[in-house]
Amino acid sequence: MVTVLDTLKARPRHPEKAHKPDTPILRKPDWIRVKAPGSAVYNETRAIVRENRLVTVCEEAGCPNIGECWSKKHATFMIMGDTCTRACAFCNVKTGLPEALDRAEPEKVADAIARMGLSHAVITSVDRDDLADGGADHFAQVIRAVRQQSPSTTIEVLTPDFLRKEGALEQVVEARPDVFNHNLETVPSLYLRIRPGARYFHSLRLLQRVKELDPQMFTKSGIMVGLGETRDQVLQVMDDMRSADIDFITIGQYLQPSRKHAAIDRFVPPDEFKSYETIAYAKGFLMVAASPLTRSSHHAGDDFARLRAARAAKAKPE
Ligand code: SF4
Repeated sequence: MVTVLDTLKARPRHPEKAHKPDTPILRKPDWIRVKAPGSAVYNETRAIVRENRLVTVCEEAGCPNIGECWSKKHATFMIMGDTCTRACAFCNVKTGLPEALDRAEPEKVADAIARMGLSHAVITSVDRDDLADGGADHFAQVIRAVRQQSPSTTIEVLTPDFLRKEGALEQVVEARPDVFNHNLETVPSLYLRIRPGARYFHSLRLLQRVKELDPQMFTKSGIMVGLGETRDQVLQVMDDMRSADIDFITIGQYLQPSRKHAAIDRFVPPDEFKSYETIAYAKGFLMVAASPLTRSSHHAGDDFARLRAARAAKAKPE
């Protein structure tokens, strides 16, 4: 039996998964190779994160791209603590009862982004079902603080679903991030197993509502593959996303964080990702990122520039 421990506090990171049977972690295929962490710029990024006492999803989710991203000074900040109130079967973020919000966090995040000189910042959070507004006001404060310190930095938020938090979404949209991202994560038939605390159509509707509130705001959503979904189900999710007017889809390979997490069904080969990319463009997405190591925030700055260019090209008269 393997129990995943938070090494600092010797507490299980996922107490709700402790009773689950172990599933073997499959060896990664040759096409999944990542850059090792440890370059000078990587260490600089790490120092800024530590000095500002910030949490990143790069570390908390055990993202495979951390060596590459941090070496380019690209980190995704995770606000409202390191403890999530949901317990998704795919996610490595610690679960439990979170601490009170850090009221100084908006300034700390803004300071780190300014020091790193980011042209595009990605901000995500844990789920905060314990807060009346799900943390929407805090999200909005962070966006405003970043705008104030770094007016030319574009801002992408990757939010929770704000399930049963009336008015929360509106607060975040009002703060006017440039990109509103919320991941559907998987196909609807796998929700109960993979994302039991969420509802597929609620998440889809959330993104549709963003576009209704602000038609200029870019919307983005992603799924993981390799969890047991079929190709037809993936194509259906693409159609659902297009019906909700989502601009940008990301598709990446699910990687199992521990023996207690959902098992990988299979490693999807690169040519299948390529085929998903071709189909998604044909379905009308402005931007598609589909590869084994695609993650919501991977290359987010470059992708945002391409996204803007794609919209401008589409708006040009023939
Ligand atoms: S892909 Fe995103 S989460 Fe992963 S290391 Fe890069 S910025 Fe961090």
